Amino acid sequence: MKLISIIVPAFNEEANIASMYKTLVQELEPLPYLYEIMFINDGSSDGTLDEILKLANEHETVKYISLSRNFGKESAMFAGMKRIKGDAAILMDSDMQHPPTLICEMIQGYEDGFHQVVAKRSRKGDSKLRSAFSSLYYKIVNSVTDVSFEDGEGDFRLLSRKAINSILSLSESNRFSKGIYSWIGLSKKTISYENVVRAEGDSKWSFASLVNYGIDGIISFNMKPLRICFYTGFLVLFLSLLYIAFTFYQIMVRGVIAPGYFTTITAILLLGGIQLISLGVIGEYVGRIYNETKQRPHFLVDMSNVDEYDES
Ligand code: UDP
Ligand code: MG
Repeated sequence: MKLISIIVPAFNEEANIASMYKTLVQELEPLPYLYEIMFINDGSSDGTLDEILKLANEHETVKYISLSRNFGKESAMFAGMKRIKGDAAILMDSDMQHPPTLICEMIQGYEDGFHQVVAKRSRKGDSKLRSAFSSLYYKIVNSVTDVSFEDGEGDFRLLSRKAINSILSLSESNRFSKGIYSWIGLSKKTISYENVVRAEGDSKWSFASLVNYGIDGIISFNMKPLRICFYTGFLVLFLSLLYIAFTFYQIMVRGVIAPGYFTTITAILLLGGIQLISLGVIGEYVGRIYNETKQRPHFLVDMSNVDEYDES
């Protein structure tokens, strides 16, 4: 029988752990699969760990990792993926916002051969402002990055063993999962669900952390922001050359007396343009160094009928 692993990161979720476990078991028990439920305590300061330990003592199917401090959800999920043994894994939040009733459909998608089965949520219940911000953000991000992010598609998804191994092969420490899921490719199926409000406790997202997350999304997957320097530099240089040419024409041909600030403005604009271009050039190198340090694999294979060439 195949083993399905459920990965549940938890940060200060003491009120949710027990009910989460109960609903998960209700869904998993009737299915013809073995299962393990991997809780990751992400440095909670409340009774989350006690709740997890209680479950782990009572049930063999409950596994746990407790991190030494709060490392953030991305790291918690990564830790979980490293330790699970399943043929497929489902990533879920511990606040019941990811309906366990979808598990069955996700596994069906996996059996149909998909490597990623993504649950896409509607924006029901979100404030209008937040929805508007989100859709604007996704438009911007998708136009400037090399990977594609879909609004409403988050971490709630099933990943095949192959997809998990691919994700684990990206060992960069600044992890932006949404980009990584897209970067690894592989076949993907999307199912939709209505947004659910949180069961207990509060969301860990503040406006500031959302903005930071947004910036991570843009920076982690492309170097285009650096290139903006380069292009602005060229634009400034071009405009200043035009200005100089125009003023020279006025002086030489039309005999207009040059204003006193002409030399100052010219010097500032010319130098400004050149400096921006130089920054852009440095940026290109920095960007390349940044990419190299991530040491991502050069490619991931989906299917092939030849093995890698091996000298030995
Ligand atoms: N979480 C975590 N570490 C953190 C923050 C959050 O493991 O530093 C977990 C949290 O316990 C929950 C999931 O990540 O299971 C999603 O968090 P939250 O509900 O705050 O996010 P939202 O649903 O509002 O996007
Ligand atoms: Mg939540």
